[in-house]
Amino acid sequence: MKAILDEFLIQIDLINVNINGGKPALKKPLCLLLLISKFEHQLIKENKIRFTDIEKELGELIITFGGRPNKSGPKANQPFQYMNSSKFWKLILPSGVEMTHKRDLSIKILRDQETFVQLDGEIFEMLKTSKEFRAIAADFIVKKWWPETIQEEIISTLSLPIYMPFSFKPQRNKEFAEIVLSNFRYRCAICGFNATFNKHHFGLDGAHIKWFSQNGPDHIKNGLALCKIHHWAFDKGAMSISPDKFTIEVSPLFIGRDSKSIEIIESFNGREIFPFKEETPDEKYLKWHQDFIFLQQN
Ligand SMILES: [Zn+2]
Repeated sequence: MKAILDEFLIQIDLINVNINGGKPALKKPLCLLLLISKFEHQLIKENKIRFTDIEKELGELIITFGGRPNKSGPKANQPFQYMNSSKFWKLILPSGVEMTHKRDLSIKILRDQETFVQLDGEIFEMLKTSKEFRAIAADFIVKKWWPETIQEEIISTLSLPIYMPFSFKPQRNKEFAEIVLSNFRYRCAICGFNATFNKHHFGLDGAHIKWFSQNGPDHIKNGLALCKIHHWAFDKGAMSISPDKFTIEVSPLFIGRDSKSIEIIESFNGREIFPFKEETPDEKYLKWHQDFIFLQQN
C-alpha cells in the first residue's frame, strides 16, 4: 500500500491549483474529498465515475468551502474536466469528442453517460478497499488546502475517515500565535474579548489573515488576534477588515436571527478594529482576504 499511497499523495501535491493572483483554487481538492467520502460510504462500485454522480454535491461543496464563489456559479464541471492533467485521473469522452485543456467542455458532453472518469487502477482498488488509505489521503488534502478552523467542518460535512497515527504532531508555530496576540494586547481585534482561564489567556487565536495553506506567512503582519467565533467568521468570509481603514466589514449574506447574534457579528460592521501595539497588519494580506474569502454579495 505504501508505494501506491506515496505516489497518490505526490500526484495530489502536484495538482495544478491554478493560482491566479493568489486566488485559492479549491475545486480539485473538494472533488477528490467528495470521491473519498463516496468510497467511504461504498457508493462507488465500479471504476467509472460519472459527472452526474457528483455534479450537485460538488457544486454545493464549492459554494460552502471553495472560497468565494464565482458569479457564474460553482462550476463543478471544471475540476471534473481539468483534473485530467493528473496521472490518476483519466477522462473518457464519447467517441468523436476531443479532449481539450483550453476551454470548458459543454455540460451536455459531461453529463453524457458515455463520459466518465477512470481512476488509476491501483489507486481505485486502494480507495475502494482500504479505510487507512482513504483516511491518509483525506487528511493530507484537508490539511494542505484549508486552515484549521475549517478543516473540522469539512471532515464532518463529508463524514471523512480520520487518520491519527501515534506520531502525529500538528505543525503549529506557537511563537506566531504569541507574537500576534501580544501585538493586539491579548484582545480579539474585532470584539475585544479578553479573558483568562486557569491563569492562561482563553479563547483567543493568533489567526492568519492570508491562510497558511495558501502561503500566508507566519509573520506578525499577517496576523490578527481573534476570539474563536470571530476567527471562524473571518476564515469563512462572513467578516473582513478593510485594508486601508482597518474597519470591520460584515458580509451582507450574514443574517443574525436574534438580537444576540446581531450583536456578536452584525453590530461590528463599520467599526474600527482594536488598536495594535507595534505592527500594523499588511494591506496586501487584508486585500487577499477581501478579494478571495470575504463574501461581499451573492
Ligand atoms: Zn471576537
